[in-house]
Amino acid sequence: MKNLVLFGPPGAGKGTQSEKLIQKYGFVHISTGDLFRWHTKNDTPLGKRVKEIMNSGALVPDEITIAMLKEELDKNPNAKGFLFDGFPRTVPQAEALDQFMKENHSAIHYVVALNVTEQEVRTRIAKRRTTENRADDEDEKLTKRIAEYFTKTIHVLPFYEKQNRLNTVEGFGAVDTIFNDICKVIDQK
Ligand code: AMP
Repeated sequence: MKNLVLFGPPGAGKGTQSEKLIQKYGFVHISTGDLFRWHTKNDTPLGKRVKEIMNSGALVPDEITIAMLKEELDKNPNAKGFLFDGFPRTVPQAEALDQFMKENHSAIHYVVALNVTEQEVRTRIAKRRTTENRADDEDEKLTKRIAEYFTKTIHVLPFYEKQNRLNTVEGFGAVDTIFNDICKVIDQK
């Protein structure tokens, strides 16, 4: 079982790349953002707890996010491999993920960070807003979400870098070029 973590700020193209990677490698996609959106849309107890937080663009507390992630892992005992999209976003989440993998006699085999500037991200999100109707993509929330990435999530990168597990892929440019660069990381190992 091979597992991949894909990093990048909101709007970096994680969703698009995830779809292509799933198609090629058969990963089970775990997007904590999608899971939280499902819960809020369906008004579950978890959805009720996180709705306000998500609406503000802030990160959901680790304890809640980690518990939801664990539940999702347990639902897929026969997965060929997982693609983690939007998780981990903090060092405690990264540590919890390693621990879960260890308990399953597995590991995170690839960590890929899409390298995109804040300006590029803003341009992409502005374009996306015209095609998708995502309530959390309004300007103020977006600023907050991007800030959360550049102030909090970015600190997860040295966690993996110190262990020689980080691969940075240029996130500018054509979707297929970026996709091929990610595939090279996966196929090399
Ligand atoms: P995303 O679609 O991945 O940008 O996630 C949308 C929102 O869900 C984020 O702005 C957070 O409020 C919440 N969220 C998603 N993943 C996480 C995570 N790993 N840790 C904390 N909050 C998260």
